[in-house]
Amino acid sequence: MSPRPALDTVVVIGGSVAGLLAAAAVAPHAARVVVLDRDPLPAGPAGRPSTPQARHSHGLLASGRASIERLLPGFTDRVVADGGIGSGDLGRSGRWWIGGGLIVDCDLGVRGLSASRPEFEHVVRELVRDRPTVEISGGTDVLGLRGDAARVTGVHVRGPDGRDRAITADLVVDASGRAGRAARWLPRIGARPPVEDRIAVGVRYATVHVVARTDDLAGRSFLVAAATPAVPRGGVALRQEDGSWTITLFSYLDEPVPVDPDGLEAFARSLVTPDLATLLTGRTLRHPAWAYRFPDCRRRRFPAPPAGYVAIGDAVCSVDPTFGQGMSVAALQAVALRTELDRTGSAAG
Ligand SMILES: Cc1cc2nc3c(=O)[nH]c(=O)nc-3n(C[C@H](O)[C@H](O)[C@H](O)COP(=O)(O)OP(=O)(O)OC[C@H]3O[C@@H](n4cnc5c(N)ncnc54)[C@H](O)[C@@H]3O)c2cc1C
Repeated sequence: MSPRPALDTVVVIGGSVAGLLAAAAVAPHAARVVVLDRDPLPAGPAGRPSTPQARHSHGLLASGRASIERLLPGFTDRVVADGGIGSGDLGRSGRWWIGGGLIVDCDLGVRGLSASRPEFEHVVRELVRDRPTVEISGGTDVLGLRGDAARVTGVHVRGPDGRDRAITADLVVDASGRAGRAARWLPRIGARPPVEDRIAVGVRYATVHVVARTDDLAGRSFLVAAATPAVPRGGVALRQEDGSWTITLFSYLDEPVPVDPDGLEAFARSLVTPDLATLLTGRTLRHPAWAYRFPDCRRRRFPAPPAGYVAIGDAVCSVDPTFGQGMSVAALQAVALRTELDRTGSAAG
């Protein structure tokens, strides 16, 4: 007979990448894991109202892929089976323009994976859903925490039927993202709010999808053109599972990024490489360009978190999106949560 898990119920606030990975991390240590998201959750790879960033390019770093694979074995193969590109060694499968120069092809010893963000989230959600002790509830808004300054004991929620109820938990994982309400929720139970640092970056994005040809970029699966002090603009192109390139152009300090086709191409020509302009020239855009503004990076420190409460993902740290780190940071945090639970048997204390 397997031993009784250390935790009875774990509630995860937020069913996006960080919340789902947190659920995978705690599952071996809990009798029941309840993932709550305010959005109705799609059956397949699709966008959602609360994650508007998901339609822009999302690169998954090698550490993120490896960490997700550790928590959810089979992740890479499932994404590749859906058409994602398991692009081999990251030093050879893409083109890196860093610091104004093209990095020479070389083996880095790390493996990449290219797909859309909705696809990554979909596969993670399906693999987590396969765990018999995990319940994922969409359309469920968390209204606040239960407990006091010493210990969080659960959450108050409004379900899809509009009814309010309480859920008791030994551990509440707050994965409610950058817009998370910990600063309001914690003081309401007498606990100290997080202290927030902000660094203004004024990043602006414009993203389009165009049909990819196999010989584009000599068959590479991605291109990164990083900003430099001399050219504080950049772009990225990633092959997607549906046979398109997602192309994102970005600027800093709120320099406008055009969204009309001619303006996009002209902007792409102003980067450190003409490669992205080449991918746009003569191609039909699959949709009018999508714009996004990311005003600042945020870091929240929790000076005296109550027992039974831990925050993860963008709820703790939301970094400059052009670095493509958010999902990987969330995955590394989820692995750290698993490691802590393995060590102590319970992070709830
Ligand atoms: C423009 C842009 C581009 C990016 N590009 C990349 C990239 O290339 N690579 C990368 O790794 N990362 C990238 N990121 C970051 C990445 O999107 C996030 O780091 C990643 O989604 C993990 O976030 P999260 O799960 O913590 O929060 P989110 O994805 O924001 O999800 C929070 C979830 O919590 C739910 N929620 C919130 N409040 C409540 C509540 N009260 N009750 C119930 N549910 C609630 C929301 O519905 C949502 O599903 C980018 C971000 C932006 C803005």
